[in-house]
Amino acid sequence: MWQILKNRIKQGYRTCRYPKEEPVFPARFRGRPITNGLAVDLGKLLFNEDIKQALPPGVLDYSTDYRLAATKRADLVLNDNELKLASCLEKKMKQLFGRSLKLRAVCAGSCNGCDSEIQALGNVVFDLSRFGIQFVASPRHADGLMITGPVTKNMEYALMKTYEAVPEPKIVIAVGACAISGGPFVNSPEVKNGTDGLLPVDLYIPGCPPHPFTILDGLLRLLDRLEAPKI
Ligand code: SF4
Repeated sequence: MWQILKNRIKQGYRTCRYPKEEPVFPARFRGRPITNGLAVDLGKLLFNEDIKQALPPGVLDYSTDYRLAATKRADLVLNDNELKLASCLEKKMKQLFGRSLKLRAVCAGSCNGCDSEIQALGNVVFDLSRFGIQFVASPRHADGLMITGPVTKNMEYALMKTYEAVPEPKIVIAVGACAISGGPFVNSPEVKNGTDGLLPVDLYIPGCPPHPFTILDGLLRLLDRLEAPKI
C-alpha cells in the first residue's frame, strides 16, 4: 500500500495540459501530409511509409500536425496542402451536447487499432471525461455513435439497429480510414466501405489509426471548445 502511494506521489500530475498547451510530437510522427502538387484524400490515406517511398522523392511527406478532423467528406481531400478543419455543431445541437456528450462506440469490423486509440482517451494522460465526454454502454443513453471499422456485412445490421436506438437528435463520428472509406479493406466483397452512404456522418477523423490527440481535437472542434482553426 505504502509503495503504491509512494509511486503515485513520485509520478505526480500526469494529465496533459491540452488544449491549453499544444502537444509535441517526435519528428517520426506521421501527421498531416505535405504534398507537392498531389491531391491526397485523407479519408483513404493510411499514413504509412510505403506510399511515400512508392512516389517520386519530395512528392509526399508527413508533418507532425495532428489536426485532421473534418465535418464534410469533401473537406478531407487535401488540395495545395490546405485543409478545412471541422466546424462546430449547429447552435441547437451545441446547446444540447456542448457540456455533456455521451457516445456509444461501435466496432464495425475494425482491426482494433482505432479502438485502442479511443480507449487511450480514457487514460490518465488524456482524461477525456474532464471535457464532459463519456462512453456509455447503451445506445439509448447516447447522444451519438463513434464508429470504427469498414462496416463488415456481418456488422451492418447491428450498426443500423444501434443507430436506430440512439434518440434524436444524434450525431455520428467516423474514426479511422476504415470507417471513412473502407481503409485497407476497401472494395472487399465483405465490407460496405465505411459509414458513408449508410449513415449521416457529422465528423470524420482520419488516420490508421488516428492519434488520441487527433480524435480529441476533432471532438473539441465539434463542440466548439477550441479556438478558430489555424491552418
Ligand atoms: S483505420 Fe487502420 S487502425 Fe483503424 S481499424 Fe482500419 S486498419 Fe485498423
